[in-house]
Amino acid sequence: MGGFFGVVSSSDCVADLFFGTDYHSHLGTQRGGMAVMHRDGFTRHIHDIRNTQFRSKFEDNLKDFKGKSGIGIISDYDDQPILVRSHLGHFGIVTVGAIKNTDELAQRAFARRHTHFSELGNNVINPTELVATLINEEDSFTNGICNAQAQIEGSCSMLLLTADGLYAARDRLGRTPIIIGQKDGACAATMETCAFPNLGYETIKYLGPGEVVLINDQGVHQVKAPGNDLQVCAFLWVYYGYPSSHFEGINVEVVRNRCGAALARRDQVEVDLVAGIPDSGTPHALGYAVEAGLPYRRPFVKYTPTWPRSFMPQDQSVRDLVARMKLTPIPELIKGQRMLFCEDSIVRGTQLQDTVQRLHYYGAKEIHMRPACPPLVYGCPFLNFSRSRSDLDLATRKAIRELEGEDCNNLELYSDPATEQYAAMVENIRKRLKLTSLQYQRLDDMVESIGLPREKVCTYCWSGCSGCKS
Ligand code: SF4
Repeated sequence: MGGFFGVVSSSDCVADLFFGTDYHSHLGTQRGGMAVMHRDGFTRHIHDIRNTQFRSKFEDNLKDFKGKSGIGIISDYDDQPILVRSHLGHFGIVTVGAIKNTDELAQRAFARRHTHFSELGNNVINPTELVATLINEEDSFTNGICNAQAQIEGSCSMLLLTADGLYAARDRLGRTPIIIGQKDGACAATMETCAFPNLGYETIKYLGPGEVVLINDQGVHQVKAPGNDLQVCAFLWVYYGYPSSHFEGINVEVVRNRCGAALARRDQVEVDLVAGIPDSGTPHALGYAVEAGLPYRRPFVKYTPTWPRSFMPQDQSVRDLVARMKLTPIPELIKGQRMLFCEDSIVRGTQLQDTVQRLHYYGAKEIHMRPACPPLVYGCPFLNFSRSRSDLDLATRKAIRELEGEDCNNLELYSDPATEQYAAMVENIRKRLKLTSLQYQRLDDMVESIGLPREKVCTYCWSGCSGCKS
């Protein structure tokens, strides 16, 4: 995924930029970058953050930065910010999203014979440089951003730091968020609003789908109105958004509590305690426990002092090992207990399988699993959210292959909780994970917990459909 933060201030912006960007560290795995604009141009640093937190990597650079406007990013794969000099002027750019038609856009640019790409990390075109190229095809930043939004398939939200000010442009269908905050003498654009309160900002605007604003010392100016079609990613609330953040004005923690409560309302199971798989399972479990009137306990506690980032590293076996090392058990809360766990989602199920094994080892009597979202049947084609995962690795697709002998053409049957195919798939996963029972969230309950109309929320991961009304 990745996340960005940008700021325009009447005084030096570096501290706000540094901490504001750092509040996006849970969203990205590999690269961190900051660029600050000043009288003589830009100062920029980019670091590999795979094994070290953003803050410790950039602390030594802070003395180099000086300026009243800047952009920062936590990125999954590519080096950012990109600095560009063109007929539009000197500008810096950061992007978040996934461009699906990179080759086609690059070939079109090559055909004009005066384009080249130089930021070839891993020998692939840097998507942010490609976006800068699309912007440079036009006669103004606004027209250039509109050109990029129109040509990109997939999604791309961006911040542009220019002599006119900071442009913030949300992707065409609003799959990723951009929120504007203000305080005395400064204005900022962020993907996670949890960056605002401790830096003194108040949210003043949630950008709509495709909306573009220019932020400068005169204030916030809309330069492109939002479109009508919103397809905001439901996973922002269920899994990867930070609990204290708001998207479309709706708080993440509150939605997770509602998801847990919805699970409880459809459940009849008798258990001794409710628990969450930390961290994002915790608020779902709290919602369940309150609704069901059951005690909430913490049989696993997360060890965070030296394992602070949940997405890293990229390698799956190392990631599984890190996940295991982070979860430390409390045997007294496990032995002989009938336990119900809430989890944000089941992706491959490999980490969960290990967690369940440990619960059996410590003498759990029953283990009931309640994922806060429906079974994930489709990989995400719109964000880099699941780029390292093949669809066929999903726990659902493994189950379907076992049931059908091959991958299935009728996946919609497995997304519908009313079908026997769905029931067989869930039972297959339950057995593989050695659970006493497994009951997934229903899609309508999840969407209702978010609180937006169904057609405004992307639910493709679960339904195979984006923008469906039912
Ligand atoms: S497919 Fe899934 S992860 Fe991707 S934008 Fe839609 S809901 Fe989010």
